[in-house]
Amino acid sequence: MSKVLVLSPRDYPPLNTRPNSPLDFAHDDLTPCDDPIFPDLPPLHHGHPDVHLRNGILAADSGAHPDAERAFFVADLAQVYAQHLRWRACLPHIHPFYAVKCNPDPYVLRLLAALGAGFDCASNGEISQVLAIGGVDPDRIIFANPCKAISFVRNAAKMGVACMTFDNCDELFKIARAHPRARLVLRILTDDSKALCQLGIKFGAPLDAVPTLLAKARELDLDVVGISFHVGSGCYDPSVYTDAVRRARTAFDMGAAAGYRFSLLDVGGGFEDALFEQAAVYLTDAIDTFFPDRSEIKIIAEPGRFYVSKAFSLATNIIARRAPLELSSGDPPPAEQPSVMYYINDGVYGAFNCILFDHQVVQPFVLSMGGSFHVAATEPLHTSSVWGPTCDSIDCVCPTTQLPRALRVGDWLGFHNMGAYTVCAASQFNGFQVSKVVYTTGNFKASEVRSILAKFATEIV
Ligand SMILES: *Cc1c(COP(=O)(O)O)cnc(C)c1O
Repeated sequence: MSKVLVLSPRDYPPLNTRPNSPLDFAHDDLTPCDDPIFPDLPPLHHGHPDVHLRNGILAADSGAHPDAERAFFVADLAQVYAQHLRWRACLPHIHPFYAVKCNPDPYVLRLLAALGAGFDCASNGEISQVLAIGGVDPDRIIFANPCKAISFVRNAAKMGVACMTFDNCDELFKIARAHPRARLVLRILTDDSKALCQLGIKFGAPLDAVPTLLAKARELDLDVVGISFHVGSGCYDPSVYTDAVRRARTAFDMGAAAGYRFSLLDVGGGFEDALFEQAAVYLTDAIDTFFPDRSEIKIIAEPGRFYVSKAFSLATNIIARRAPLELSSGDPPPAEQPSVMYYINDGVYGAFNCILFDHQVVQPFVLSMGGSFHVAATEPLHTSSVWGPTCDSIDCVCPTTQLPRALRVGDWLGFHNMGAYTVCAASQFNGFQVSKVVYTTGNFKASEVRSILAKFATEIV
């Protein structure tokens, strides 16, 4: 496969190499559109996300609100758009069905709807959320949860969502009762040992169970239309797609033996940003090898993380600082032990739930220190730990990292790549609110993104 140009709006100078003055972004037009594209949604700003990180900090430091210093996300929709262009360049024959659970952000859903993506929904709530946008036909939804409550199956029928996955016999009985005209996709088990989040322990029929399941589906007069798999979320060895597609081929042949003519191959999610081009090559080669004749097969995927991970950054305020207990005696710390603990105002019960649930390791960078956005590269560092705001000791964001010695309460730490499996699973444990999102169309093809959204908005009224 040919090498693909990777478009990334992150290719800007890092924050701290820029001039040290709030005035340096006076040139950026930060005002939201006078004419909001979606009047019911928060404003959609112009300008580079870094500018909005700084702007949010300046607004907070002016202290106008009771919770002035609260943490906030900046979402760059241009980054989501860039990922879509990357997808289309690398996998032009695979139709993406965005996995809503990864980040059901209203702007992200609208942009992807406008770009023609489909949606992978796992519940009534997600189906309703996608259909409520308007302009998304229920045909563009796959109900990709193999184990559904019967009321959810009934509701899918009512909403006109016909495509759904299954991996067990009971599901077939439920669907035969509640949605006999459904178009079923059999989720098979594949090797997910090379992924951060293995899904095979919960879902997927092993190949040797496939003939029995298909015979049962036949007996119940159900329409099975294809095969799906998921190599695991956060897949770090994209060569596993080869074996997954090979197994899907075997399942297609089992389908033919059972009298079905499958027309859908769903290659699931698992696409990691950094490995995407590599994954696309493995996938394309495997599909060429095992499905050389694709004239009657539609191929879809269910990417989640790939679309949103890089699009969201989080700004957090240092609300407290103290010495680790064992250091309070005044003894110097062993070199590698943190010598200071920083407490920030979002944690593992909020946006950083990705540390617990999604096995992520996060690294902070200094957004502002001592009222300045400029941190000299020569700034002396010390080993530090970073903690969330709740009273639970599990609420540790970063057990050890290097941060400037001069960092104090009131300074701000930033985190990139906070778009996947973060906002969506944040709780309000201990009375801490979920961090709000500031939206921008960024600097990369911003006017294109706005006109895509604006056109979509006029189509759905
Ligand atoms: C979570 C999930 C996805 C998305 O996975 P990513 O690794 O975020 O791409 C896709 N399909 C199903 C069925 C899922 O459960």
